[in-house]
Amino acid sequence: MAAPKVAVVGAGVIGLSTALCVTETCPSCSVTVLSDQFSPKTTSDVAAGMLIPHTYPGTPIHVQKQWFKETFTYLFAISNSAEAAEAGIHLVSGWQVFKNTPKEELPFWSDVVLGFRSMSEAELQKFPQHRFGQAFTTLKCDCPPYLLWLEKRLKATGVQMYTRKVTDLWELHSEYNVVVNCMGIGAHQLVGDEKLFPVRGQVLKVHAPWVKNFIRDGDGLTYIYPGIHRVTLGGTREKDIWSLSPDHSTTQDIFDRCCSLEPSLQEAQEIQVKVGLRPSRRSVRLQREVLSQGGLKLQVVHNYGHGAGGFSVHRGTAKEAARLVGECIAALQGSSSRAKL
Ligand code: FAD
Repeated sequence: MAAPKVAVVGAGVIGLSTALCVTETCPSCSVTVLSDQFSPKTTSDVAAGMLIPHTYPGTPIHVQKQWFKETFTYLFAISNSAEAAEAGIHLVSGWQVFKNTPKEELPFWSDVVLGFRSMSEAELQKFPQHRFGQAFTTLKCDCPPYLLWLEKRLKATGVQMYTRKVTDLWELHSEYNVVVNCMGIGAHQLVGDEKLFPVRGQVLKVHAPWVKNFIRDGDGLTYIYPGIHRVTLGGTREKDIWSLSPDHSTTQDIFDRCCSLEPSLQEAQEIQVKVGLRPSRRSVRLQREVLSQGGLKLQVVHNYGHGAGGFSVHRGTAKEAARLVGECIAALQGSSSRAKL
């Protein structure tokens, strides 16, 4: 078999990182990224990019922890290299605060982030409405620079990237041996996945360079995440809402909630409003599938449905998707050598 041709559909953080892992695990593969949108027009560009895992109820915790750990280790190495600023990756310390003590005081990821501990009474004085808190250091991706950094690495390894809307996976059958589906919420329509639903998120990106620590309310709804140039203020989680239009009253509500956690934000400048649709599912669809039609077969790997936690686990799921691509290629090589006998 000649160099296997792999098409990765989607150019958000999942598609780009999966394409990169495929080039690393299968250097002989010819990899192409096809997408109807690239950065800065993906959901991944809207995200805050904080490495604080979201829990997938349909996936074993040890698997989620492995994905998070692989992602943290990968980004930690970038944050500790000369490429950190260009890639938009940096360490950030702060607090997750709770109005009531949570049932689970030690989340499953507490030994992956750095220096996880309960907050002291003195620290909690900063948050008079909260009774319990956790302090730790984690990583943050500034999303558009990180996506551009991934694109640059892909181009350097010879990966082709084309703007193209895919309307049926079968249209790729004559050109590619393996198709990797990283279409985010686009998979709802393209593969008719009824288990995939949007969770609309609205955030503000503001200029407030004096805010250095992250603050997250444990309910996951209100958060302040400082990046290299801008601070992300969030947010909303609106299930099954497809609208990408910013809502003015929501903007005011987010701003007020964040100011009640960090009053100095009253002086924030240059407020931009962004909206994205989290591609949500009970579990990430990370799976190999062989499609059949009229005697033809198409090897497909799905990697979508990362919901509110795509940045937190992207490298771990990309590595697993690349391993599944390897299985597809082994199956194709097996069938082509049997055909020659
Ligand atoms: P996308 O970024 O949507 O990429 C999908 C790609 O597929 C796009 O390029 C699209 O153009 C392409 N595509 C779709 N359909 C087709 C088609 N038919 N043909 C061709 N191409 C197609 N996660 C975290 O870990 N930490 C955070 O702090 C965080 N904050 C967030 C804040 C908000 C407000 C939102 C909305 C999300 C946040 N997330 C966060 C979640 C994270 O953004 C997602 O999990 C992640 O971006 C999903 O990446 P993706 O590549 O699957 O999807």
